[in-house]
Amino acid sequence: MSGAVSGFGMTSQRTRTRMIERLREKGIVDEDVLAAIAAVPRHVFVEEALASRAYEDTALPLGFAQTISQPYVVARMIEALHVGRELGKTLEIGAGCGYQAAVLAQLTDEVYAVERIEPLLAKARLNLRAIKETKVRLKHADGQLGLPEAAPFDTIIVAAAALRVPPALLRQLAPAGRMILPVGGATQYLALIERRAEGYLETRLDAVRFVPLLSGVE
Ligand code: SAH
Repeated sequence: MSGAVSGFGMTSQRTRTRMIERLREKGIVDEDVLAAIAAVPRHVFVEEALASRAYEDTALPLGFAQTISQPYVVARMIEALHVGRELGKTLEIGAGCGYQAAVLAQLTDEVYAVERIEPLLAKARLNLRAIKETKVRLKHADGQLGLPEAAPFDTIIVAAAALRVPPALLRQLAPAGRMILPVGGATQYLALIERRAEGYLETRLDAVRFVPLLSGVE
C-alpha cells in the first residue's frame, strides 16, 4: 500500500505504472513530467463509475459536457512547456476537475487555475483537497481574460480550444514565458508560444481535439 488517498491499493499502483509505460511508448521522455503524472491518483478526479478506467490513456467525461484530458495530451503539453526550463508561476485556463492542476503542482509551487463552470470548480476544490494538494489557487472566472491580478506568468496552459489566441493571455505572459494552447474549431492544433524580446514566436505541434473555450461564466 502506498499513497495519501485511502483505498489506493496495489492494483491501482500497477495500472498507474502501466500508464506511465504507455506514455513512454508514445514518446514522452521528460522524467520530471512522467514522475508528476505518476504522483497524481487520476481515479480521484473521475466519476466513481469510471474509476476503473482512470488509468487508461483516454479522455473521460466530467459532467457539464466537459472531459478530463487524456494523460498523453497532458504530458505532451507540459513537456513542451518544461523542456530546458522550470515552469515558474503557472496559469491554467480550464481547470475542470483539477487533474491537470494537480500534475502542474508536482512541478511548481505557484499554480493558478481558472474555470468558468462553478460546479466544476467546486469539484476541483474537493478533489485537490482529497489528495492534500493545497498549493493550487482556483478562481471562478472567464479565463479568456487571463488572471490580471496575478500576472505576469512564466507559463500558461489552456485546456480548451480558442479560435484565436486570446490577446489578454499574450499580454500576461512574462518575458521568456511560454504558453501552450489548442487553436481552432472543427480542426485544431497545439500552439506553443514563446515571448521573446523581439515578439511572440509560435510553433505548431500536434493536431488535437479539445472542447471549445467559451465566453462568460456559469
Ligand atoms: N484541465 C482539465 C480539463 C478540463 S476540460 C483536466 O485536467 O482534465 C476544459 C475545461 O475548460 C472545461 O472545464 C471548461 O468548462 C473550461 N473552459 C472553457 N472555456 C473556459 C474559459 N473561457 N475560462 C475558463 N474555463 C473555461
